[in-house]
This record gives sequence, structure tokens and C-alpha cells, in this order.
Amino acid sequence: MRLFAGTPWDQPPRCERCGELTEVCRCPPAPPPPPTLVPPNRQRARVALEKRARGKVVTVVRGLAGTDNDLPALLSRLKSACGAGGSLQENVLEVQGDHRERISQLLAEIGYRVS
Ligand SMILES: [Zn+2]
Repeated sequence: MRLFAGTPWDQPPRCERCGELTEVCRCPPAPPPPPTLVPPNRQRARVALEKRARGKVVTVVRGLAGTDNDLPALLSRLKSACGAGGSLQENVLEVQGDHRERISQLLAEIGYRVS
């Protein structure tokens, strides 16, 4: 005979979500936790102007890691703030045209340290 048999401590394990015994529970597996993002005020973004083929210029933002930030969402914000197209390549955000001031301002508003 087990020590806690017949007492409230002898409950079989139950699912936390549906309350069924885990043996009969049909809940789907729990979704993975959201990625851990680093607060913007602990990151430094470097904004620079770079030249591309055929005399085009782009404003690039470097220094932000894809694992610490939702870079696609950030790129969307930058593009709509500048009214310009852009792309994301290997953690480098690129917006067409010279938008250094607007982008630096927006990044600072979000909380990033900007240089
Ligand atoms: Zn369940």
C-alpha cells in the first residue's frame, strides 16, 4: 500500500487545460512560447547611407539581431514611415532612399539607442 493512497495527494495526473486525466486528454500539444525579445533600450542600431547599383542609395540599419527583434515587423514600420520600399537581408534592414533622419527618429521613439 502506497503512503498517500486514498488521500487527496494520491490524485492521478490531470491535464491543466481540459481537466481530463492525462491518459485520456485529447488536447493538442501546447504552442511554443513566444521568442524572447531583448528590450530596445538595451540595443544599439546603426543607421547609415549606402550606395547601390546604378547610383541608388539606401538607408541601412545594422546592429539588431533577428533573435532579439521582430525585424520583419520593424521593417514594415520603417517602410510605411518613409513611404518607401525596403528589404531585410541577414538582419540588415534596408529602406530605399535617404531616410536617415526619419528612421533614426522612429528607432529612438521605439526606444532603441541609435548611432
Ligand atoms: Zn487536456
